[in-house]
Amino acid sequence: MPTESTFLLFALFMVAAAAGWAYARFLDRRDRDSQEDEPPLSQGYLRGLNLLLDDETDKALEMFVRMIATDDEALDTHFALGSLFRRRGELDRAIRIHQNILARPDLSSVQRHTALFALGEDYLRAGLMDRAESLFRQVAEQAEDPEPALGRLVGILESLGEWEQAIIVRHELEKVSGERQDVPVAHYYCELAERALGNGESRVARGWLKKAQRARRALPRGAILRARLAEHEGDSALAWRLLSEVVRGSPALLPEVLPDLHRLASRREDLAGLDALLRPLLTTREAPGVAYAAITCDLLDPPVLEEALIGLLTGDDTLASLVDAPALAQASGEARRQLLERMSGGLRRLVHRGPRYQCGSCGHRSQRMSWQCPGCRSWDTTRAAATLPLDTVLETSPRQ
Ligand SMILES: [Zn+2]
Repeated sequence: MPTESTFLLFALFMVAAAAGWAYARFLDRRDRDSQEDEPPLSQGYLRGLNLLLDDETDKALEMFVRMIATDDEALDTHFALGSLFRRRGELDRAIRIHQNILARPDLSSVQRHTALFALGEDYLRAGLMDRAESLFRQVAEQAEDPEPALGRLVGILESLGEWEQAIIVRHELEKVSGERQDVPVAHYYCELAERALGNGESRVARGWLKKAQRARRALPRGAILRARLAEHEGDSALAWRLLSEVVRGSPALLPEVLPDLHRLASRREDLAGLDALLRPLLTTREAPGVAYAAITCDLLDPPVLEEALIGLLTGDDTLASLVDAPALAQASGEARRQLLERMSGGLRRLVHRGPRYQCGSCGHRSQRMSWQCPGCRSWDTTRAAATLPLDTVLETSPRQ
């Protein structure tokens, strides 16, 4: 967050830049032996800067805006001033500066696109999405390098939930940048499918999900949604198969699908099938994730979940001391079951207090699973923590 001092620093920088420029201009003029008696433009800057330093920002702005119309050589400085106002949250002033730059009739096409983009940024920051969208579209169509404008457009369309438009822009972005856009495009189709499912339009949802699959074959979210659709239409076998594939391909998503798998297995009276699906994970580094899923989903059946939980509680020294591992080792039968349920319940309450999910790209932590990271806006990078996030639980626990 820029502070008043950074603003003053920038102002001083401008004084230095303006003074240097004025000196160069003076030398140039002397060399040419010009008789012009027009005052150097830097005086306008200095007056504007004095007003800024005296906190008379509006008067300073008037002065800079008047200079925009006449001052050829300091256009970059005006851009810098506009972006500084934006960063300070003074959006009306930033907009004024950029609109005045655009009003100049002699701008080169690069300068014009830079000004349109900057004004788009001002509107974006001000929450005027329609205006920002229209400016970024203009730059994307006309500029030699449309990639930054396409990137901004995608962000706007995502925030508005305009998924079909966003798909078109992603395809353009792929052409321009050469970078594959299949992951976000497939997620946009999933967003459309979820919306259709929410409206009870199964046929429409199926169409979007096929497109998602065509965009990117291995997409766990697509499989989860197809499983939901299959279960809704009474095809439990297909739902089971799809969710099993999700667990085998992306074990970190187990907390998202375990309740569905458990429900399907219970309905078929086949908890042994769920046991057989999860058991191979116990001998891999995914074992703590199985225990974590058992804790967060409040499930201890089939036996593989109980075993994973015991492995977690006794395998970690800190946890073992917290949960009284010796008592657990001595207990048996119903007493042991009750003890495990109590420990699992306590850990669940702790875990639910803090962020349980983390983005693998930017590290953003959150309490809810989101397919798009709220921090860096990447798709499919957030997963449940594979270990109990006791550090953050302790950080966020209210003091007793
Ligand atoms: Zn992120």
